[in-house]
Amino acid sequence: MTAPTPLIAGNWKMNGTAASIDEARIVAASLGRRNVRVAICPPTTLIHRLSEALAGSAILVGAQDSHEEAAGAFTGDVSAHMLADAGAKLVILGHSERRAVYRESDASVARKVAAALRADLEPIVCVGESLDERQAGQALAVVTGQVRGSLPLELAGKAYSVAYEPVWAIGTGLTPTLPEIEEMHAAIRATLREMFGAEGDDPPILYGGSVKPANAAEILHAKEVGGALVGGASLKAADFLGIINAL
Ligand code: PEP
Repeated sequence: MTAPTPLIAGNWKMNGTAASIDEARIVAASLGRRNVRVAICPPTTLIHRLSEALAGSAILVGAQDSHEEAAGAFTGDVSAHMLADAGAKLVILGHSERRAVYRESDASVARKVAAALRADLEPIVCVGESLDERQAGQALAVVTGQVRGSLPLELAGKAYSVAYEPVWAIGTGLTPTLPEIEEMHAAIRATLREMFGAEGDDPPILYGGSVKPANAAEILHAKEVGGALVGGASLKAADFLGIINAL
């Protein structure tokens, strides 16, 4: 079987104004031709402008969340259809910050994933254990449970990725050991095969959590690591390029 094309996605979180588009332009201008897909997920306010600025480049623009309904009385929310209309091609769903701050459950993430597919957005579905769960020896059970609960069967045959992001590694500078990453990615792959049969081999499994140029090469070359979801280090073109070029 051929390995899935790796994906490196930058999550700008709630950072960035029009001036930040220049960073994305620098990344686009410096990307060589290689077997990697690159995405930038800016705040919603920049999706349209970034899609226009990067039109014709190799960088895809993504969103950081989307609502489970296509339209309606949901003040302040944005649907997958609207994000696609603004130029987004992908969407991050179930990020641990949304699970923690907005109490998003696996079931609600699964409904959002299904809605994203209806809007032709490619989901990046995030899973990951807390430090307490890891220290209690529950990491594998928690994460594989999140995979089962957050990935609807509508994903069969569709393009998507799963991002393993240990909550305790996000924005902290801490990372799991390589054997811990490989063990978790293998468990996620096995769960995808259980759920989707041979098609469970298709989606890349990204690692996320304090990826930076200095540690990117060893993480990206670990077994079953099919790319990275990058927060802080995606905000500066030089750092993001350092990670992409580590592949
Ligand atoms: C993230 O928020 O998805 C993330 C991985 O953040 P950081 O790279 O800053 O740890």
